[in-house]
Amino acid sequence: MDSVSFPYDAPVSQTLFDRAALVTPGGVNSPVRAFRAVGGTPRFMVSGNGPYLIDADGREYVDLVCSWGPMILGHSRPEVIEAVQAAVARGTSFGTPGEGEVALAEEIVARVGPVEQVRLVSSGTEATMSAIRLARGFTGRAKVVKFAGCYHGHVDALLAAAGSGVATLGLPDTPGVTGAQAGDTIVLPYNDLDAVRRAFAAHPGEIACVITEASPGNMGVVPPRDGFNAGLKEICAADGALYISDEVMTGFRTSKAGWYGIDGVAPDLMTFGKVMGGGFPAAAFGGRADVMGRLAPAGPVYQAGTLSGNPVATAAGLAQLRLLDDAAYAKIDAVSRQIQGLVTEALSKEGVAHRVQTASNMFSVFFTADEVHDYEGAKKQESFRFTPFFHSLLADGVYLPPSSFESWFVSTAHDERAIERIAAALPAAARAAAEATAPEPTAPEPTAPEPTDPQPSAPEPTDPENAA
Ligand code: PLP
Repeated sequence: MDSVSFPYDAPVSQTLFDRAALVTPGGVNSPVRAFRAVGGTPRFMVSGNGPYLIDADGREYVDLVCSWGPMILGHSRPEVIEAVQAAVARGTSFGTPGEGEVALAEEIVARVGPVEQVRLVSSGTEATMSAIRLARGFTGRAKVVKFAGCYHGHVDALLAAAGSGVATLGLPDTPGVTGAQAGDTIVLPYNDLDAVRRAFAAHPGEIACVITEASPGNMGVVPPRDGFNAGLKEICAADGALYISDEVMTGFRTSKAGWYGIDGVAPDLMTFGKVMGGGFPAAAFGGRADVMGRLAPAGPVYQAGTLSGNPVATAAGLAQLRLLDDAAYAKIDAVSRQIQGLVTEALSKEGVAHRVQTASNMFSVFFTADEVHDYEGAKKQESFRFTPFFHSLLADGVYLPPSSFESWFVSTAHDERAIERIAAALPAAARAAAEATAPEPTAPEPTAPEPTDPQPSAPEPTDPENAA
């Protein structure tokens, strides 16, 4: 989308974006940040305080992205900042074991029953990549089942039909992933247990694991149907495959024990990130002790990281998790419900067909009258209504994810003033969504700026978007 079609009201951000574009592909370090799906100038942020972000032009926004999930206590929470400052003062990295990483691992194990042992890494991508390798090493099998619209980071084998940025940008399966890397990936429709049963029947004893978002938030929020996760676990157990629940987004956000704390289905392996890092690069994978015991140096499956368990990141994560008690989750849930209600009220008043879908305090808005259960359903929404909705809110100081395929995130810091700002901005945004008209169908651009060529040899991947 052409950035000049929107009011040029962020001159400093635009100048920074122009500079960035000269030295960084697309001007950003993660695709969705570039506003390609909505057009206009990406806002370059300079500071955050509580529920607010300030951009380089000095404008304040109520933040409904929260760094794509991690900032669950809002920005610059004093206790977290103090913990980080104290850690930094002691040194920033030692490349040795340290007490902070033990304490963070203990906190995770104490919160999430199925996690008997945990290994710290630096990103959610690294966590899912390592969990898949471990599942393959443990089972001695090659194939991996994933679901269309689920995003597990930019792991080669998992980019097939991925959500998030891949969905936002409408990218085909990405060039650079070879047929060999994607050839053992089986992509199935989400929420369809029969499809999973058929895949296991077609490949008995060949599937190492099923990986699923515990409750997907990367095709918009599309929770599992009742019994779906339990069914996955049962099918995996019957065949000797592992059930991996990706809680990078839902972990420590949807409840004290993440989505596991809500559905109680115990995975063999789980992955975490975002909230557990307190805004720093920290992530983890963990689960059954007999499986985790296969990891080096205890076992033969290799995995390592120069900055894994970094003392500053672990201090931030631990400080954040220790503040996340029952009262904090009750607050986040209440804020989320309040904002959901305001969105529904504003869109209903303007007669805009929509559904607000939720998974605990995560939620997103689909511009469709139909409930969305899978990626095909998510793609049927009238995304053209999202663009004016987004820009109207942005102009009125509310910062949404710049894509209709992403979850909105709130924090304990979203107070009455922030909610009033959202309430004041929503009527105009809803009107803009109501007035939006569907674009004329156009022939595909021959010179699309993002990766374009479909991977000819990759078997099942279809059309992922970009990840934040
Ligand atoms: N898994 C899920 C469910 C995610 O939402 C994400 C990122 O959004 C990832 C994995 C990848 O995490 P990261 O961006 O830290 O690599």
